[in-house]
Amino acid sequence: MPEVSFQTRSCARCTLCCRLPDIDELDKPANVNCVHCVEGFGCRTYEKRPQTCRQFQCDWLTDPALDDAWNPLDCYMIVYRQGAQRTVLVDPSLGKAWQQGHYASMLKDLARQSEAEGGYLILFAGDEVRRIRPI
Ligand code: SF4
Ligand code: SF4
Repeated sequence: MPEVSFQTRSCARCTLCCRLPDIDELDKPANVNCVHCVEGFGCRTYEKRPQTCRQFQCDWLTDPALDDAWNPLDCYMIVYRQGAQRTVLVDPSLGKAWQQGHYASMLKDLARQSEAEGGYLILFAGDEVRRIRPI
C-alpha cells in the first residue's frame, strides 16, 4: 500500500478493533466480529456505538513513534495503551508468524520502547497471553 504519513493516518478500511478485543458493553467475545461491524467498511450503528468504542483509538492512529509497519491493515495486530501496560492484540489469522522474523523484531522494538517509558508490553494471541521482552 502507499506510504501513509502520520498526519494522514485514518482507519480507512480497517475494522480490526471491531473484531479482536472483547467488549463488555456489547457482550462481544474476543476475535469475533461485532454484530454491528461491516468488515472493510465500518460500524452500522456508529451514532449509537457504546462509550468503549467512542473512546478507543489504537496507538497507530495516535502515536507518531509507531511507524507505518504498525498499520493494523498491514500487520494484523492492534496496539493500545492501558496505563503503564501497552497491549498488542494479534489477529488469529496471523497464526504463529508474530513469533518470527520481522514481526518478532517489531514486537521487541515495541517492548523496548514501552520499557524505556516505564511500562511493559503484553501480547494476546488467541488463548496465549505473553509478556514480550526487548531481548
Ligand atoms: S484498529 Fe486502529 S486503525 Fe483499525 S479501525 Fe481500530 S482504531 Fe482504526
Ligand atoms: S459497535 Fe460499532 S464501533 Fe463498536 S465494535 Fe461494534 S461495529 Fe465496532
